[in-house]
Amino acid sequence: MITVLRIGHRPERDKRITTHVALVSRAFGADKIIVDRIDEKLKKTVDNVTRKFGGNFEIEFGSYMEQIKKFKGAKVHLTMYGIPLEEKIRDIRKFDDIMVIVGSEKVPRIIYELADFNVAVKNQPHSEVSALSIFLDRLARGKELRGELKIIPEERGKKVLRIPGKEECLRLLEKYGADDRLKRHSIMVSKVALASARGCGCDQRLVEAGALLHDIGRTVTHSIFHGVEGYKILKREGMDEILARFCSTHVGAGLLKSTARKLHLPDQDYIPRTIEEKIVCNSDTLLKGDKVVTIDEIAEDYVGKGLASEVPRLKRLYSYLERKCGFSIEELLALNDEQLF
Ligand code: SAM
Repeated sequence: MITVLRIGHRPERDKRITTHVALVSRAFGADKIIVDRIDEKLKKTVDNVTRKFGGNFEIEFGSYMEQIKKFKGAKVHLTMYGIPLEEKIRDIRKFDDIMVIVGSEKVPRIIYELADFNVAVKNQPHSEVSALSIFLDRLARGKELRGELKIIPEERGKKVLRIPGKEECLRLLEKYGADDRLKRHSIMVSKVALASARGCGCDQRLVEAGALLHDIGRTVTHSIFHGVEGYKILKREGMDEILARFCSTHVGAGLLKSTARKLHLPDQDYIPRTIEEKIVCNSDTLLKGDKVVTIDEIAEDYVGKGLASEVPRLKRLYSYLERKCGFSIEELLALNDEQLF
C-alpha cells in the first residue's frame, strides 16, 4: 500500500500542482493521496480521472501531523536535502506500507524528524511532481508504467482501452461459474501466450487478459458457439471489442466466413488479426487441456478428426509466430513442469 501525503496545499495557489501530484500518484501506482487542506474541487477532478481511466485510487483530506503520527509503515519524506535515493531505495522497498511525503513551500523541521527516511531525488531543487514520479517509478523498478489503460492510436479520435488485470479476469471467470478445468486451461493458455509473446514487442497485458478470458463462453456452452457466447459476455461486461474478439477469434484456430456459415455461426469471419489475437489463438491450439504439446501432435489430431484441410493454416500461424516472436517449442513444453497456481 502506497500513500502520498501532500503537505502545504493552498487551494487558491496550488490547484494545478496539487492536481498533478495526485495524478502522478495514481498513474505511478500509489493507492491513495492525503492532502492537508480540504479542497472539494481537487477531489472532484481526481475522482473524475479515476472514474474515467480506472483503478481504485482515493483522495482524502486530513491534518498532516495526525496522519504522520498514526501511520504505521515507513514514512519517506522527499527533500532535496536528503540522502540520495539510490542509497536508500533498497531499504525502502522492504516495506509493504509506505507513506511518501511531499511539500510545497517551506517544509517544517518536524517533518524531517518524524520521517523514517529523508530522501533526495538528486540534491538539487526542482519540484514535488518530478520528485514523486521518479521516486514511485524507482520504487516499482519501472514496472507499473504500462498501467491498465492502453491508448489506441487514432488519426483524430481519443480511444482508451481498459485492460483488466489477471485478478479481475479470474474474478470474471468465477462470476460466470468457470469450473476448475476451465480455470486451469485458461491460466495455462495465458502462460503459453506470455512466454510466446516475450520477443515480439506486443502488449503483454492484452495478451494475458485475452488468454485468460478467451474461453469464458464455455461457461455457457462447449459447442463451437462458445466463442460467440464469450464475445457476448465480455460486451455485456462493458469490455471493448478488442477484448471481446479474443473469444470469437480463437475458435477452430480462426474460421473463414464460408466455414462459419456452414456451422451456422453469425455471418462473419473469425480470423485472428492482431498479433495479440494470433498469439492467444496459437497458444490455445498448442494445448491439450492444460498441457502443451507440439504442433505436429495437434496436426495429427486434426487429421484424425477429418480436419486435414485445416492443418496447413494452423502450421502457417505457428511458424509465423515462431519466426516473429522467436520462441522455441522446448521453452513452451517446459511450462508443463511449472506449477500452475
Ligand atoms: N524549499 C522547500 C523546502 O523546504 O524543502 C521545498 C520546495 S519544493 C518546490 C517542493 C517539494 O518538492 C519539496 O517539499 C520536496 O518534497 C520536493 N522536492 C523538490 N526538490 C526535490 C529533490 N531534489 N529531491 C526530493 N524532493 C524534492
